[in-house]
Amino acid sequence: MNDHDHELIDDLVTANHILYHEGVVDGFGHISVRHPARPDRFLLSRSIAPATVAADDIMEFDLDGNPVDARGRKPYLERFIHSEVYRARADVQAVVHNHSPAVIPFGVTGARLRPISHMSGFLAGGVPNFEIRDAGGPATDMLIRTPQLGVAFARTLGGAAFALMRGHGAVAVGDSIRQVVYRAVYAEQNARLQMEALRLGDINFLNDAEAAGADAANYVNMDRPWELWKRRVARER
Ligand code: MN
Repeated sequence: MNDHDHELIDDLVTANHILYHEGVVDGFGHISVRHPARPDRFLLSRSIAPATVAADDIMEFDLDGNPVDARGRKPYLERFIHSEVYRARADVQAVVHNHSPAVIPFGVTGARLRPISHMSGFLAGGVPNFEIRDAGGPATDMLIRTPQLGVAFARTLGGAAFALMRGHGAVAVGDSIRQVVYRAVYAEQNARLQMEALRLGDINFLNDAEAAGADAANYVNMDRPWELWKRRVARER
């Protein structure tokens, strides 16, 4: 790995800590990034709590979900979410999987998660909801623990930026670590705000044009929240 790659690993470590501090992951959940030089590989921590991840914990995987050089490190069971999304989506450079509390109700009720504010325009166009019973039958443990379930999930995700997993959590994808962290944070916030707003009355959501415009406007400012969140975790170290 060259210096540039070490910078990417530092960013991946920082992203793990940010996602914990922003309430997206807890003891569970993970974030990966596609390998910068090998598009058929990706980087993901060994199986530990994201807030405790350090550079030595970052493992390299191929698109079958096999570790390239495990050195005794145990991988996450659900790494097939990452491997099969990277295989299916050439545009995706980073993936977050999480179980944050506000997204769960949307996956189990059929309520549609929709962009309530300009920070979450990426939710426009419909948020797919993965039903594991369709691919895994009625008696799974709800985890994407095989490549076959990963393929089924990636098919449900389609071209979307964000997908729910019924009775489990969600997945955000992006073209960078910064963008995927942004999406995971604001999807959770959108879910919380949408449930709050519903108590007050009918919600006037962003329309598709507003969502697309807002998303483009925010896209050029991905560094701003990243630097803020990064500073917050740096203080805690
Ligand atoms: Mn999970």
